[in-house]
Amino acid sequence: MKLDGKVAVVTGAASGMGKAIAELFAAEGAKVVVSDLNLDKAQEVVDGIKAKGGEAIALVANVAKEEDVQGLIDGTVSQYGTVDILINNAGIMDNFVPAGDLTDELWDKVFAVNTTGPMRTIRKVLPIFTEKKSGVIVNVASVGGLFGSRAGTAYTASKHAVIGLTKNVGFQYATQGIRCNAIAPGAVETNIASTLTAINPFGMERAQVGMGVNPGTGQPEEIAKVALFLASDDSSFLNGTTVTADAGWTAY
Ligand code: NAD
Repeated sequence: MKLDGKVAVVTGAASGMGKAIAELFAAEGAKVVVSDLNLDKAQEVVDGIKAKGGEAIALVANVAKEEDVQGLIDGTVSQYGTVDILINNAGIMDNFVPAGDLTDELWDKVFAVNTTGPMRTIRKVLPIFTEKKSGVIVNVASVGGLFGSRAGTAYTASKHAVIGLTKNVGFQYATQGIRCNAIAPGAVETNIASTLTAINPFGMERAQVGMGVNPGTGQPEEIAKVALFLASDDSSFLNGTTVTADAGWTAY
């Protein structure tokens, strides 16, 4: 097993990619903290993991709130003694609002979850990681962090910022045995993705959007496998980088 005995915190893990990551990590021997806004749904994920013989607990945390993030890391340490892996997966969309229609409120809301959230969790785990001189951080960004994107301005900017955060943290802590990488998923079939087709003021078809042709949607489990690679020693030579998982959408 690739994560035997490791303690992994996964934010936004009650649904979609976070759920798939939590389940795969538990199957690979990790003790998983399934964290989300929604405790009941997080507990369902935990129950599913335990039914398969895995180890997990559910902790409620809004990554947009400093005290919740502190509680998440404190709760993890109190239950499992440490943190080895942090997966910053929680994220929200921005209803495709273009720059001219943006409000400060929407911008701040999207950044609070998508960008400030990961910064906060990273800030809280770094003392633990630096003390033991090891730790892995994986940020779930987006292809929207690589190109102009079909999402709105706030989402696109927030995910570009996550990729910058990833590079900077990877650089600063590399000598202390800490790696920080990101994943840029293309369209993946989750609750968020269902809003992509429901709300689209730019009037674009999925297959017309982006730098090339969107080759279709992926499954959360396909992203979970990338997260496993980045969280395990298999990716020991990767740091500060972003792995694009989009079936070639942004490549052509
Ligand atoms: P999802 O909606 O299925 O899951 C997101 C989870 O995050 C939900 O369980 C939600 O409750 C939780 N969440 C939302 N706000 C939160 C907060 N403030 N604090 C804690 N948890 C919160 O969506 P998903 O597609 O699995 O999204 C996971 C990540 O992948 C997001 O960061 C998203 O931006 C990114 N992403 C998604 C796609 C896609 O096509 N689905 C593509 C690229 C990137």
